[in-house]
Amino acid sequence: MLMGQMMDRPLMISSIIDYAADYHPNAEIVSARVEGDIHRYTYREARERIAQLAHALIGLGVKPGDRVATVAWNGYRHFELYYAISGIGAVCHTINPRLFRDQLIYVVNHASDRLIFTDATFVPLLEGLREELPDGLRFVVMADRDAMPDQGLVDALCYEELLEGQATDIEWPEFDERAAASLCYTSGTTGNPKGSLFSHRSTLLHTMGMLAIDGGGISPRDRLMPVVPLFHANSWGTAYTCPLKGTSLVFPGPNMSGEGLFDLMQAEKVSSAWGVPTIWIGLLARMRELGRAPDGFKVVIIGGSAAPEPMIREFETDYGVSVVHGWGMTEMSPIGSLGVLEPKYDSGSLDERIVLKTAQGRRMYGVDLKIVDDDGNRLPHDGVAFGELLVRGHGIVSGYFEDEAAAANSFDDDGWFRTGDVARIDADGFMSVVDRTKDVVKSGGEWISSIDLENTALGHPELQECAVIGLPHPKWDERPMLIAIRVAGSTVTDADVREFLEGKIAKWWMPDDVVFVDELPHTATGKLSKLTLRQQFKDHVLSTVGE
Ligand code: ADP
Repeated sequence: MLMGQMMDRPLMISSIIDYAADYHPNAEIVSARVEGDIHRYTYREARERIAQLAHALIGLGVKPGDRVATVAWNGYRHFELYYAISGIGAVCHTINPRLFRDQLIYVVNHASDRLIFTDATFVPLLEGLREELPDGLRFVVMADRDAMPDQGLVDALCYEELLEGQATDIEWPEFDERAAASLCYTSGTTGNPKGSLFSHRSTLLHTMGMLAIDGGGISPRDRLMPVVPLFHANSWGTAYTCPLKGTSLVFPGPNMSGEGLFDLMQAEKVSSAWGVPTIWIGLLARMRELGRAPDGFKVVIIGGSAAPEPMIREFETDYGVSVVHGWGMTEMSPIGSLGVLEPKYDSGSLDERIVLKTAQGRRMYGVDLKIVDDDGNRLPHDGVAFGELLVRGHGIVSGYFEDEAAAANSFDDDGWFRTGDVARIDADGFMSVVDRTKDVVKSGGEWISSIDLENTALGHPELQECAVIGLPHPKWDERPMLIAIRVAGSTVTDADVREFLEGKIAKWWMPDDVVFVDELPHTATGKLSKLTLRQQFKDHVLSTVGE
C-alpha cells in the first residue's frame, strides 16, 4: 500500500467551536432559561465562556478521561459544557433526568462521575439521591449566585462564580482523536442502562455526515430549535452540526408545552425544529387552535419513534411545513437515516411524497444498513422482504462502556451492530421500520407491525394516541390489542374504531380488543413504553379467547 502524504491532524470537537467563533461569529444561541427569561449571545461569545469553563474545570482538578455529568435542559450553559468538558479531554456524561431513580443511581455510579452540573430544577431530585451516589462527588448548579437554591445541595458550587475571572481564551490540547468525548446511557427497557461512549473522531465524522443532509434546515440562514434534549442521544447532533454550519440555535429550556414552543418559535423565527412525535402532538394542537404555523417555520425533523402518517399529512398539507422523518439510535451517534426525498419526487404529488415520508428514510453518509433473516442471511433490498436491521459505520458503537455482558449479543460475527429493529429496504434505499423485534405481534406464525397498526388507527380523527401490544391467544399465539386515548370530548367506541380500520388493514391484523385509557406510559426518551403496557394488561383476557 502506498501511503498518502498528508498531515495526520486529529479530529477534535474543540475545532468545531473554534471554527464557529472564527467563521460564524455572529450566529446566535438563544436560550429560554430556567430563570424564566431569554438569554442570547453569539458563537464568538460562547467560545469565550467555554474557554472560561474549561479553565475552571482544570482548576477543579478534572483530568483527561474523567467523567463530568450534566443533568440539565437545553440551554447555553449545557452547550458550553459539551465543548468545555470534551475540549480538555474529559468525558461529558449527559444524564436523562427522566430515568427511574434506580437507573439514575446506577448511571452515576457506573460512570464514576466526578462532578455533576445541574439546572436548579433538578436540585431536589439529586438531593434525594445523594446518599446513594459516590463519595467525593461534587455538584455545580448552573445559575448565578442570586439564583442558587437555598434548599438542597447547599454545598454546591455556583456555575457563574466558577467562570468569573477565568481567561476567555484557551489553546486546546490535542490528543488521540479516538479518545472518549461523551457518554450517554440508553434508557434500557430491561436491565441496566447501557453506555455509548462516543469519541472525538466519531463525533466529528457524524457531524460532517449531517452536513451532507439536504433539506434539514441546517444552513447559516436557518434558526434551528432542538426540542430533542441535549441529554437524549446528543440532541441528534444539533449542538455540533449547527455551530459548524453557522446555523443559529434556539434552545427551549424547560418549557416544552405546545403553547410555549409556539411562542418561542414565533418570537425567535425558528425555521427548523427537531423532536419526537409526542412533542409535535402538543405543538400541532396549538397550531390548530390558532389556525396557523409560527411564521417562518419551514421544516420539522421527527424521529425517536415512528412519525404517524396523519401527523406528517397535517404538517405538510395544512401548514406547508416539510417533514423529514429520521431514524437512529443513541448507539449510532445517533442518526442512521433521514427521509429526505430525491429531487425526482419534486414534481410528484404531495400525496406520493407524504407516503414516502412515512418511511424512515435513506441511510446517512457513513452508515451501512443490512437486513437479515433469522439465520443471519442477507435479505434483498426489494421493499418486500423484512428482517432484523444491522448497521455498521464510524459513528456506531463497537461495545458498551464497561459492560461486556450487554455487548455480548449486540453484534453479528462480522461486527455489525444489531439494532433490534425489524425493517424493509427498497431498491432506492428507503428503509421502513416495521417494528422493534420485541414489539412485533406474532399471530399464527405471521407478523403484525404494531407501528403500522397504531399509525393506521391514528388516522381516526377522534383518536389522539394509540399503542398496540400482543396478548397471548391459545389458537394464534398472540393477537393484537389496541389501547387508545380519545381526543377530548369524544365518545368513539371499540366498534367505531374497528369499522374505521376495516379495509385499511389486512383482515387478520384487526385488533381483537380496543380499549380506551386517559394516559399512555412513555419511556424516559418519549417512546411508548410497551413493557409497562404489557405489565399493565397482563391479566387482560382477549374477548376472542374461546371463540
Ligand atoms: P433509547 O434511549 O430510548 O433507547 P434511542 O433514541 O436510542 O433511545 O432509541 C432507538 C430506537 O428508537 C430505535 O432502535 C428504534 O426502535 C426507535 N426509533 C427511532 N426513530 C424511529 C423512527 N423514526 N421510527 C420508528 N422507530 C424509531
